[in-house]
This record gives sequence, structure tokens and C-alpha cells, in this order.
Amino acid sequence: METKQFRAESKRLLDLMINSIYTHREIFLRELISNASDAIDKIYYRALTDDTLEFDKDDYYIKVILDEKNRVLKIIDTGIGMTKEELEDNLGTIAKSGSLAFKKENELKDGYDIIGQFGVGFYSAFMVAETVTVISKALDSEGAYKWESQGIDGYTIEPWEKDTIGTEIILKIKENTEDEKYDEYLEEYRLKDIIKKYSDFIRYPIKMNVTIK
Ligand code: ADP
Ligand code: MG
Repeated sequence: METKQFRAESKRLLDLMINSIYTHREIFLRELISNASDAIDKIYYRALTDDTLEFDKDDYYIKVILDEKNRVLKIIDTGIGMTKEELEDNLGTIAKSGSLAFKKENELKDGYDIIGQFGVGFYSAFMVAETVTVISKALDSEGAYKWESQGIDGYTIEPWEKDTIGTEIILKIKENTEDEKYDEYLEEYRLKDIIKKYSDFIRYPIKMNVTIK
């Protein structure tokens, strides 16, 4: 297993995410679902142009799995996946450094609300999760990898088992404190509301496990 540091700019955005008193935490789910959708777009277009790839419409979907008891929320996609290099390059750096520049410029004017309007991406997961784990298997690679981080201190990466192509984002949801509440992100109805609110336009099915009492 290897432990690596985030790049400087990523650290600053992470810090901002984790420590801001943030009213729009719920957008983490919008960001992760939009990444899942982007990844499915990529494999979809590959399949269109590559005769050796055969896919069915039913093969493309996003799954949200709630495990309330263990405080775990998973977002699973059947998208193109990430290689080890892609995990490091894409998740170890702020892909959209534009949003950081924008944030800096407008910090005084609008405060933290800018994050809510802008696509901040993957790192928004750290607003609600104490640990973020990404297990991914890329279309053009042999093995799968597990990327894991608890925020500022960097991330680890190691070979992992995964049979199917795609990505699993596993969030260990933070514990409630006196001032900060996170339990709502472990409530089925709350999650469904967030998905309807922000991800209604996503063109792939979003499936969710339901509790049968
Ligand atoms: P953006 O989506 O604006 O590029 P993000 O921070 O949301 O920025 O994501 C960074 C990058 O990480 C993406 O561009 C993509 O390459 C990669 N990525 C994130 N989530 C996934 C996923 N579920 N499947 C494949 N790649 C992903
Ligand atoms: Mg994104």
C-alpha cells in the first residue's frame, strides 16, 4: 500500500470544504451522481464506436446503497472506471481548479454560497464523510484499485478485487456533533429528496435500495 500527499491546491480546497460552516452540504450527492453519469457517458460513447464492446441499455445505471447501521452510503456506477494512474491524477488533484480561483475572487462578496452554485466535484464528499473510499476498475485495465482518504493527510492506494468495470464511492458518514448534524444523509427519504432535487435530469436510472420492514 502507498500513502501519498495531495497537491497544494487540492489541500486548500479540501480544507475549505471540511472546515466551512456550510449550508449546502447536500450537494455532495449531486456531485457524485454527476460524476457517475459522466463516467457512464464515456463508456457509452466508447461502446458506440467500438464494435468489440457490447452493451445493453440495462447495463448503464447508478446505484445508491444505504447502510444506515454502519453509517455507510455508497454510490455505484457502471461507467468507464479509473486506472491506478487516473485515480491518482483525477482524485489527487483539483480537476477544476477554475472553481477554486472563482471562489477566491468572490470570497468576500458572496461567502460560502458559491460552492453551492459551482460544480466543486469529488471533494465535496468530505463535507459529509470522515472517510472516502473509491474502488474502481477501468475499461482498459486488468486489475482494480482502492483509493482511500480521510481528508487533508493524503490518500492511500492499493490493488483491490472488483469483478465488474465501474466505480464504487463509499462514504463513511460523519458522526453528529452538538453543532453539526449528519444523520440526515443516512435517511432514505432525505436522500431521495436530494436526488429528485438535483439529479432529476440524469439520463441513466438511479436505483436505490429500499428498506423492507
Ligand atoms: P469534474 O467532474 O468537474 O471533472 P470532479 O472533482 O467531480 O471534477 O472529478 C474529477 C475527475 O475524477 C473527473 O473528471 C473524472 O475523471 C474522475 N472521476 C470522478 N468520479 C468518477 C467516477 N465515478 N468514474 C470515473 N471517473 C470519475
Ligand atoms: Mg464532477
